[in-house]
Amino acid sequence: MKKKIINISIDIDNIHHYLKARNYEPTEHTKLGSIYNYALPRMLDLFEKYNIKATFFTVGEDALKYPDVIKLMHHNGHEIANHTLNHHQHFGELQYSDMEYEILECNKILEDITGDKVIGFRAPGWNINNNTLSILKEGGFKYDSSVFPSKLIPILNLFNYVTNKGRMKSNLGKNMKIGFASKKPYYPHLENFWKKSNQNEILEIPPTVVPFLNLPFLGTSLYKFGKPLFKVSKTIIDLYYDLILYELHAIELVGFEEVNDNRLSVKPGFKFSLKKKIDLYNYFLDSFKGLESKTLKEVSEIYYENSVILK
Ligand SMILES: [Zn+2]
Repeated sequence: MKKKIINISIDIDNIHHYLKARNYEPTEHTKLGSIYNYALPRMLDLFEKYNIKATFFTVGEDALKYPDVIKLMHHNGHEIANHTLNHHQHFGELQYSDMEYEILECNKILEDITGDKVIGFRAPGWNINNNTLSILKEGGFKYDSSVFPSKLIPILNLFNYVTNKGRMKSNLGKNMKIGFASKKPYYPHLENFWKKSNQNEILEIPPTVVPFLNLPFLGTSLYKFGKPLFKVSKTIIDLYYDLILYELHAIELVGFEEVNDNRLSVKPGFKFSLKKKIDLYNYFLDSFKGLESKTLKEVSEIYYENSVILK
């Protein structure tokens, strides 16, 4: 039997993005460098231990500040992909030219640092509009991973709004049709990106959503709901998918004291001890043993080269 594929992707949202999304300014005590100084090196060690080659969705303005960390990730065989220049919380509301600038400028920075072409994109907050895929296509991208195909999104948004005490609004789910998008990779219609098309201009690789239950399968869910839901989700996913995407956020591996800003404790598990956080990472990485780890770039190459898989 063919080995199933696991892709681990990380959105490197930075501390100031989490604060900005909730309309907070950093205090004089907030430690803004903790993601790049602590969380990412920890993640790289864990990935080395488990032989994982991951995809890091990187924000251009942060890459400029920490080029050595980006170089190390790239050197270790991970893929560096585009998560926009400034991580606009309402990315999907940007005008065409602003959106294009956010995407292409980020690519220039990342490609300058690594010397490698960047071909993958994920929007902040899974929030794209009907211009985004055309911009990506024109920019020479091969895949997008911004369509979140869950019918539960309105509920998850409400949940998020309540846990953040109304400080964080999301545009995700404005378009209910996204919930009906394919849960497996597909070639999307450029404007109606939740629909399949016959053109293979760009590949959409959605994050894994549990079939039927529509629950997102990602690090945030493990931190919020614990191991029992992870186990049930993984059991169902194993039955239906040959490719599993598991999405993480670098903030999950930073110690509470290393950030020193209590306002972010609305994030699931933010106050867990560092030991517990590392244990949770070991837990899911253990559960993925036996799967073949690939970057999204490698996944997209399989799809482009082997049309059999598309059926
Ligand atoms: Zn993000």
